[in-house]
Amino acid sequence: MLKVDDINVYYGSIHAVKGISFEVNQGEIVTLIGANGAGKSTTLNTIAGLLHNRSGSVTFMGEPLNKVPSHKIVSRGLALVPEGRRVFLQMSVQENLEMGAYTQSGANIAQDMEKVYNTFPRLLERRRQIAGTLSGGEQQMLAMGRALMSRPKLLMLDEPSMGLAPILVEQIFDIIRKLHQSGTTILLVEQNAQAALSVADRGYVLETGRIVTSGTGKELLESPAIKKAYLGG
Ligand code: ATP
Repeated sequence: MLKVDDINVYYGSIHAVKGISFEVNQGEIVTLIGANGAGKSTTLNTIAGLLHNRSGSVTFMGEPLNKVPSHKIVSRGLALVPEGRRVFLQMSVQENLEMGAYTQSGANIAQDMEKVYNTFPRLLERRRQIAGTLSGGEQQMLAMGRALMSRPKLLMLDEPSMGLAPILVEQIFDIIRKLHQSGTTILLVEQNAQAALSVADRGYVLETGRIVTSGTGKELLESPAIKKAYLGG
């Protein structure tokens, strides 16, 4: 479904992503893990068209994405939930979800909204509340719900657990599992390697802009080197 082939991404003279290649197959959860500054967000933002790779290619559903503007990438079925949620703080929950459906026609919207409210009952209770007054966990749910409103074939999540209490991290990962079971393909970026590898079919480990290891979620969870570096021993 997604093929990232040898991409190099720079911020001016800073070489943030150094020849990264990986794939996501239909129906999989694939995770990119790594420490602060490893290049995880840069990779997702490049796939989403928010940054541009200087070389290499990104192919989605058999079509190259290089030079496709980010709003057209959403119409092709690729949605990003950015780091730090970035919901529209002045708008209500419902309005945020409506914004997520900008690529969709009227007939689908009500049906999709109902699906999102079924997945996130908390959002239904708070549908008229202004998003800026939601808790961090609720904002994360809203950002995920908003992305789902575009009917993504591939959902990319950038650190959904960031800043959340353990109980909420569990809830978010339960939802990720449910979305996966209902057929959504997910590319998940996380610093919480334990949680990410537990849900993932496969994972890639990034260090300073390069992929240093890959394997199934289970293999990486059991690897002594990964345990030592990313799982607290
Ligand atoms: P984190 O988990 O902290 O978000 P990350 O793995 O997502 O880390 P990136 O945010 O992709 O890492 O950053 C990769 C590298 O690029 C880092 O060295 C970072 O300092 C640098 N970088 C990121 N954004 C910019 C920017 N706007 N300008 C310059 N350098 C940047």
